[in-house]
Amino acid sequence: MQIHQNYSLKELNTFGIGVKAEYFAELQNIQDLQEAIRNPIRPLLLMGGGSNLLFTNDVKGLVLKVSISGIKVVRESNNRVWVEVGAGVNWHQLVLWAVQHNYGGIENLSLIPGTVGAAPVQNIGAYGVELKDVFVKLKAVDLTTGKLKTFFNSDCAFGYRDSIFKKAAKGKFCITSVVLSLSKTNHRLKLSYGDIRKILEQNKVSQPDIADISKAVIQIRSSKLPDPAKIGNCGSFFKNPETDQTKLREIQVHFPNVPFYELPKNKVKIPAGWLIEQCGWKGKRVGNTGSYEKQALVLVNHGGATGEEVSQLAQDIIASVQQKFGIRLEPEVNII
Ligand SMILES: Cc1cc2nc3c(=O)[nH]c(=O)nc-3n(C[C@H](O)[C@H](O)[C@H](O)COP(=O)(O)OP(=O)(O)OC[C@H]3O[C@@H](n4cnc5c(N)ncnc54)[C@H](O)[C@@H]3O)c2cc1C
Repeated sequence: MQIHQNYSLKELNTFGIGVKAEYFAELQNIQDLQEAIRNPIRPLLLMGGGSNLLFTNDVKGLVLKVSISGIKVVRESNNRVWVEVGAGVNWHQLVLWAVQHNYGGIENLSLIPGTVGAAPVQNIGAYGVELKDVFVKLKAVDLTTGKLKTFFNSDCAFGYRDSIFKKAAKGKFCITSVVLSLSKTNHRLKLSYGDIRKILEQNKVSQPDIADISKAVIQIRSSKLPDPAKIGNCGSFFKNPETDQTKLREIQVHFPNVPFYELPKNKVKIPAGWLIEQCGWKGKRVGNTGSYEKQALVLVNHGGATGEEVSQLAQDIIASVQQKFGIRLEPEVNII
């Protein structure tokens, strides 16, 4: 494993922020990871595809890019297959692999950037499916002791864009592989979320299979979200806030058409993009950063933005949503 000094991270984060790591190494396997743990350089920062990280400064210590590869079927029955996947595998490549093999369960998660190892960290989700729905277990190495530990689904405290790896276990483990349980037959298709049905109709598909759904999701996402290769971004910058019925009714007095989703226990989720749009931020440019013209929830780098600039914009958005609606937005992106 080669350790580089003063290494540029600009091409390694989808925001395209031009910062440097004091030290940087790429991990191809667990031996590399063990070597990095034995090395005294600290702190350690793990990264995969850099699609959920906002760097506000040069990074002190050792940045480890996890590039452990491999997709392997480890268990199989008539109906299901367990697939163990290296943490460095690109998530969308895994989805395409699964669709090609007619393994169902992750087709709605097509085109989410990043790696398989980061997927459990925020329990990635889209179009009515979350990673936790197919997640069996993962292997991770304790960054203090170097010991391997298995986390089963119930150990991960999965929630909406949340897991133990963002809370109690934050920065403590390097996830090295993930096992998913996928269907081989009788796939449970999820069509009711977003525009999936509409796009299937447009594509003249009346009896969709998982490949049709993957294709529809790719079409929808490509039309709505900016391609990080063209315009720097990390997807949704904020989580959709959860609130109670009382707050919803308060908002409905002035905004009778406020969109919301009912949740258990009398809670509701209000789209953060809508709240931000009502505060006048959609498509607004501030210096080299701004809110994306087609989706207010996505903050973008128009070119040359610093992480500080993006972070300041995020704080200004949080303040204006708080002032107008009394709701505090929480970033989904990891701000470093
Ligand atoms: C255009 C766009 C659209 C997006 N759409 C969605 C979406 O629909 N749904 C969604 O959920 N997310 C979405 N995201 C966010 C992002 O794709 C996910 O959060 C993804 O899982 C991040 O993967 P990554 O490898 O890039 O992680 P990174 O950004 O590199 O890291 C994210 C976090 O995980 C930690 N980490 C990374 N690898 C490991 C590891 N092996 N072990 C332990 N910790 C690790 C890092 O330290 C960091 O805290 C989108 C992003 C973009 C740019």
